[in-house]
This record gives sequence, C-alpha cells and structure tokens, in this order.
Amino acid sequence: MELIYLDNNATTRVAPEVFEAMQPYLTSLYGNPSSAHAFGRNLRSAVERAREQVAEFLGANDSSEIVFTSCGSESDNWAIGGFLEQNPGKRHVITTRVEHEAVRSLCEHLAEIGCEVTWLEVNESGELDLDGLRRALRRDTGIVSVMLANNETGVLFPIEDVGRIIREHSEAVFHVDGVQAVGKIPINLRDWPVDLFALSGHKFHAPKGVGALYIRRGVMLPPFIIGGGQEQGRRAGTEAVANIVALGRACQLANEFNGHDQIRALRDKLEDELLSKIPNARLNGTADRDKRLPNTTNISFEYVEGENIVAMLDEAGVCVSTGSACSSDSHEASAVLRAMNIPYTAARGSIRFSLSRYNTEADIDYTLNVLPGVIERLIEMSPYESELRALGARK
Ligand code: PLP
Repeated sequence: MELIYLDNNATTRVAPEVFEAMQPYLTSLYGNPSSAHAFGRNLRSAVERAREQVAEFLGANDSSEIVFTSCGSESDNWAIGGFLEQNPGKRHVITTRVEHEAVRSLCEHLAEIGCEVTWLEVNESGELDLDGLRRALRRDTGIVSVMLANNETGVLFPIEDVGRIIREHSEAVFHVDGVQAVGKIPINLRDWPVDLFALSGHKFHAPKGVGALYIRRGVMLPPFIIGGGQEQGRRAGTEAVANIVALGRACQLANEFNGHDQIRALRDKLEDELLSKIPNARLNGTADRDKRLPNTTNISFEYVEGENIVAMLDEAGVCVSTGSACSSDSHEASAVLRAMNIPYTAARGSIRFSLSRYNTEADIDYTLNVLPGVIERLIEMSPYESELRALGARK
C-alpha cells in the first residue's frame, strides 16, 4: 500500500535536491571546518555559503545575523531564555496561549521560577487579541514571543502589526517563532519589526537536526553553548556541516518554489469536500483562507475521537495527526483548540491535515474517498449516534 502523507507540519520529506547537496559532506568531505589543514578548513566556505542562503531567504540584512542551531525548539529556547539571562532586570514576558510547546512550556517554566508571564488570548477563529497586547505591554516587559503561523490550525498572526505595537508602546524585544511559516509564506525580516526569529530545517524539506536563529544586529544574547567559539562565539560545538549545507539548499529551493497555489488548491478541495460531505465536520481556525497557511486545514469531527480517526486512516495508509506531534501521546484536548474555546466534543475529534509539494490530487481524492466511511463507522460506534444523525439532517 502506498503511503499518503498529510502530516507535513509534523515533519517533511528531505527533498532529493537537498539530499544531493548534503551527501558529499557525509562521505568524502568529512573534515572539521575549524581544522588547520585545508581539507577541514575548506569546509568553512560551505558553512558560510549556507548562512548566506538562509540570510537571503529570510531577507536578513547580513548573514552574520544567522546562527545555526539543532532545531526550532532550541532556537526558541535560546531566544527567550537567553534574552532574560542577559537582562535580569526585565522579568515580564508576553506570549500567546496558542504557542507551540517549545515556547509555551518554556514560558510556564519561567513563570515557576519568578518571571511574570502575560498570556495573550485568541478568539474562536484563532485570531490574536491585539488590544490585549497593547494593554499588556509595560516598561519592564523584556520580551514578547508570538508565533507567525500556528502549527495546529495554520492561522497566521499579523506579525508586522504585532511588532509595530511593541515598538510603539515599549522597548521590549520581539521574538517570532517562524518554524511553521518558513517555506510556506514569504518572510522579510529586513522590513519586519522583528528582533529574533526561529526556524527549523525539517519543516521544509531539510533533515532533522538543524535549525537557525536570526538575531538582529544589535540584539545581545549570551552564547547558547559555551566552548570552542564556533558560530561567532554564540553556539559552540563542531558544526554539523552536512545539515547546515542542507538547510542552505532547502532555503534556496523554497525561494525558487512556485507551486504554493497548487498546494493551496489541494488543501481547499480537501477542506471544502470534507465540510460539505461529512455531517459532523467543522473547521477550526478562521474561514478566511488568506489568514491561514496554504497547506493546513484543521477539522473537527464532533463526538468522535480524533485518535480513532488517526488510527483508522493509518490502517488505510493515510498519515494525519490530531494536532502537534509533540502532544500526540496526551489524551487531553489540544491546548490550542481549548484556547480558541472550541467545545470539548469537537476539540477531542480534531484532525490536522498538512500538505506539501509532494502531495498529489490522487492523495486528496483517496483521502476524500476513505474518510467519510471512517467517520460513519465511528458514528455507528458512538454513544451520541442519534445526536450525530440529527446534525446530519440539519446540514
Ligand atoms: N515551533 C513550532 C510552531 C512548531 O510547529 C515546532 C515543531 O512542530 C517547533 C517550534 C519545534 O521545532 P523542532 O521540532 O525543530 O524542535
């Protein structure tokens, strides 16, 4: 059975072009860029070329603003934790209720160790309360961390507006978790009022194990790892040259990619047909598709369990998830959907479908073919069968 992979917000396939670019650095070009001999030393230029590719793709002013890390979680943790370490007098942090665990759990931890954290609310469509941000900003606000695109719903936050409000009302530094947005929508850090920006390679066709943190020139962070002085003394440890080269190539590929409209069209077809065909289906996240990532749709099937849908689709060869891959072991309803005030009976039955450039119309047709049957079988097994039939009759 051929695998249909609709879980690209969890991770993506390494692009063949990316694999080809990194391969020599795993085989023949295995030197250490810090070595004195030419065999190692020559790899320095590969690392710096990759840094330039990332900087150009993000619209950074200078490649020295890019530091390679191991993943998005590291970039987020360094940005927020590092800023607070550097500025011990600024203990007020602002973030949102719908951040990925990499930011949310860190901020929960910061609150336990004496920082004051303000959690910004979202509405039922997942949109951010900008007035809440205005009210929350204070003289001692050190850092504001807001994601660009939500990993579960795909809802985009108006980062330029957020940055402008921060600049108008405070001296706080602005960190953006851009992990889900990179490779899916244009990024322009030169013009955006953003100081720190996290990304992760495996979300856009580079391998796992490499990410980056953009640190705007003039913003000071202590080193994330102290040691040999690599990465301009900001993150020690021998560079993962192959992964870094892969990240640079993935940025270049993403820059050249012009198939976003096709991904969007497939997503729209999936979303439209599921919402119209399946009686207990409802969309999570704004209905305004321009305010969502083009590859993501999150749909609840009320009164059925998301885990059961995932398992039955898995048997049929389709990979989806109930939400963030990091929380897939937990039987709680998604914190993101709870923050959006989605009723519990719907939040428990939510499924995230996330597409990539490798999905085809046949993948979507197959999913549309099997999913109604899966939901029908779960409705038959549900103690709420009569309520569900009534929902169907009303639709
Ligand atoms: N931020 C967001 C919005 C994410 O979706 C993820 C991963 O799902 C991360 C951060 C963490 O990235 P990584 O898996 O590279 O640590």
